[in-house]
Formats: sequence, structure tokens, C-alpha cells
Amino acid sequence: MIIEGERASAASGETYQVKNPATGEVVDEVPNGGVEDVDRAARAAEKAQKSWGRLAPAERARILHAAAAHMLEKVDEIAPVLTAEQGKTLLESKIEARRFGENIAWFADLADKVHGEYVSLPDVTQYGLVLRRPIGVTGAIVPWNFPLTLAANKVAPSLAAGNAVVLKPSSTTPLATLRCIEALIEGGLPEGVVNVVLGPGTGEAIVTHPLIRKVALTGSTPTGKTVAAAAAPLLKKVVLELGGSDPCIVLEDANLDEAAKAISVGRFFNCGQACLAIKRLYVQDAVFDPLVERLVERARKLKPGNGMQRESRMGPMHSETQRAEVEAQVKDAVERGARVVFGGGRPEGAEYGNGYFINPTILIDVPDDSRMVTEEVFGPALPVMRIGNLDEGLSRANASPFGLGSSIWTSSMSAAHRAVQELEAGYTWVNALQIAHDELPFGGTKQSGYGKEHGIEAFYQYTDQKSVVYGLVGK
Ligand code: NAD
Repeated sequence: MIIEGERASAASGETYQVKNPATGEVVDEVPNGGVEDVDRAARAAEKAQKSWGRLAPAERARILHAAAAHMLEKVDEIAPVLTAEQGKTLLESKIEARRFGENIAWFADLADKVHGEYVSLPDVTQYGLVLRRPIGVTGAIVPWNFPLTLAANKVAPSLAAGNAVVLKPSSTTPLATLRCIEALIEGGLPEGVVNVVLGPGTGEAIVTHPLIRKVALTGSTPTGKTVAAAAAPLLKKVVLELGGSDPCIVLEDANLDEAAKAISVGRFFNCGQACLAIKRLYVQDAVFDPLVERLVERARKLKPGNGMQRESRMGPMHSETQRAEVEAQVKDAVERGARVVFGGGRPEGAEYGNGYFINPTILIDVPDDSRMVTEEVFGPALPVMRIGNLDEGLSRANASPFGLGSSIWTSSMSAAHRAVQELEAGYTWVNALQIAHDELPFGGTKQSGYGKEHGIEAFYQYTDQKSVVYGLVGK
């Protein structure tokens, strides 16, 4: 763990092993922290925040830029660590590690550019100010699918706004995160400003620790509900980035080549283990077959393999449980009448024997009551459904408990306009690859959570507003 700038063991002395999902080999052994360690980390953060929060914002920006630049020099060292613990391909790991540093730099730019307000009041002998002040210590709880980018989404705006952080990576993916935070510290981030605790029990301890005033969680919807309930007695601020089942609508006037390219990346990137991912595809009848053909062509090129090997195009799934879940969802769809047009099952061969590999899979005519449509599919399996028109597409797209991302492919301005207005989601892409941009606020509606990451909104959400009234009264 990292507490007050130093590597730290768990108070209990316990450790656990981190294993490689492609080979089953032990990658490393790390401390299994608990309540006492979170307390130590929270106190260290509180102490560090006092000076960090009082720095001139321009100085905070300078330190964060220097730290991010140093971290970015280490991307080639950090990426293989991420691949070994998470399973993703080396290319995916490099993209992700780079995004970590870029995100820190993006928010560093805001540190001295976001100001309070002057407000005139009805009584001209008084005026008002609205200050934006740091919250104090914030908690960041991160899942295993994008350990680095999802940590940066929380750490970067929190630090830029003058807070200190207690960060908990997923228990199965702590290693690259430790390297990134260490690199920030080597690059000049003051000790104690970010502390990293490890172990399954540390999440709950962060949520209930009185010194930690706000918690940002990315995780599953059930975990989000537990965290919201645990934070409620303390009236703690909570940001919840939860599960999704993003619909994508393709109309008959769409550019099918571009749509197929974006849908393939949108579903199979990171072995399909992404919150923002195309998880339900609704295609208008006239272009159903040609689009499915294109998708199959693309899926054929996604050779599963150990992420360390150059020829691998898709790593293993992260865990046995996760793979079993996706397999059960596919089986359920087939039993209800869906047809597998590509993939299904696991790749065969000795090199796949010890990892959680699965084939990229495309199913057509998946019934609306099947698990692939009603639940989140967190793996590389794509259900494709036929629609007659846009109305049908919109109503079936919205018939989901989730509301994270959504997209439409069409050349009709009015169809695009309706989709933007009517899709129930925190994001809608029109004829564009489903990726989240630093510049745009990101977060879900419905059971996908609340609060925003990315964009200036995320910075604001790591500040407390304070109103001030100045009376111009003479002596
Ligand atoms: P998870 O909910 O099991 O765990 C997420 C994190 O929360 C882990 O660090 C875990 O240890 C911690 N945690 C678990 N129970 C907790 C508790 N009671 N109190 C505090 N912390 C607790 O999720 P996962 O399986 O690691 O990740 C996959 C899920 O994350 C999927 O549902 C996916 O859609 C979602 N996700 C959402 C987004 C988004 O931005 N909306 C992004 C990526 C992943």
C-alpha cells in the first residue's frame, strides 16, 4: 500500500496473491489491508490536505503537471504490469496508462482557471461572493476493468481542486495503480496527498470513515446501492458510476462500414469488460444482414490470446466467475431462441488451458426477455435485434433499468435529433465511436448511478461552495 508517501504493510501483517488471468501464475503478493489501515491513510490524507489545499492553485497546477509528465515517461514500464494483473492486451494497457497521466494533466489545467463569483445584492452597501473550496479528504473506489483510467477519473479532479485522496483499487488489480501513484510521488506530488489501501475490506472502511467526506465509486449497481446506504447515516457525498447496458440503434440510412467498425470496438475492446460498451444492438430490418456480416468479419480478426503476445487481439476475461456469468447469459439467450452467428464457447489449444479465455460472440434475434437484454453483459458477447423503425428502436432501447451510454447510426438529422432527445442515458453518440472524452461530463441515469466524472463538472463536484456576504459598513 502507499501511506504518507511510503510503501506500507497491512497492520494485520496479512497478504494475498495477485494472479495473471491469462496463465493463472502468481504475479505478486500485496498487503491485505483493513479498517486500521484505512484509518492511517485517512489521517495521513487529512494532514497532507491542510497544506495541499492552501497552496496557490497555480502552484498546485505546476506540481500536478510535473508529476503527470514523470508518470507518462513510465508508461512502457507500467503497461506490462497492467496486462499481467488484468489480462488486457499490451496495446490496451498502454492506451490506459497514458490516459491516466493525461487525465491528471487535464485537471491540472483547471486548478487555477476555475474561479468563484462576485454577486451584487439588493442592498448596495453589501455584496456577495461564492467561493469554491476543497471538500477535504475524498475516497476513490475502483473496479478491475479499467483500474487506471477509473482511478484517474477520481484522483485527478479531487487533487486539482485541493483535496487529498484515499484510493482503493480492486483487490485483483492493485499493481499498476501502485506504480502510477508512486510515479506521481517521484514526480513531485507531496507525500500523503494520495494514499493507496488494498484489500477487499478497505472499501467499506472508506465509505464509513468520518474523515473521508466524499466517496466516488465505480462498480456494479448492487455495490452502488450498498455504498449509498452505508454513506447515508454520515450524509456523505457520493458519486456512483455503475453498470450499464448501452443500446445502439442502426437505421437503414447509416454508413454501415463506419457503424460496424465502431460497434466492434464498442463491444469487444477490453474483452467486452467495459461499462460504456455497446451491449444491445438494434438494427433496422433492411440493413440487418449486411451489418451482421460486417460485424462477423471484424470479430473473426479478434484472436484471443495472452495480452503479452503481439498477435493477441483480445485478452482473457478477468476472472472465472466473470466468464461463467457471460457463458450463462449466452446459454440463456440460445435456450430462448437466439442464434449464435459467430463464436460461442472458448478457444481451444494448450495456450488457453490456464486462462479465462472466451471467443468473441455474436447472437441474432435475441428475445427481449433474455438475460442478455435485461442484464448487463460484461464480456465479449453481442446480442443483435431487428427493429422495423426508429420508434421501435427507441422504445426497446429505453426498456432497460440502466441508463449509462447510448448511440445511433443514421444520416437523418431528424432521427439523430429524436435519439438525442429521447434516449434515456447520460451520453448519446451520433455516428461516433463510443468513447468518453475528458471534456464532456460522464455519468449515468436510472440504475447506472448519479454524479459526474470528466469535464469541468467533475472539478466542481470536488469543491464545496461557500457564500459570503460583505457589508460595507464604516467604523
Ligand atoms: P464491484 O462493484 O464488485 O467492485 C467495485 C469496487 O468496489 C471494488 O474495488 C470493490 O472492492 C469495491 N466494493 C465492493 N463492495 C463494496 C462495499 N460494500 N463498500 C465499498 N466498496 C466495495 O465491481 P467490479 O466487478 O469490480 O466491476 C465491474 C462493474 O463495474 C460492472 O458492473 C461495470 O459496469 C461497472 N463499471 C462502471 C463504470 C462506470 O463508469 N459507470 C465503469 C467501469 C465499470
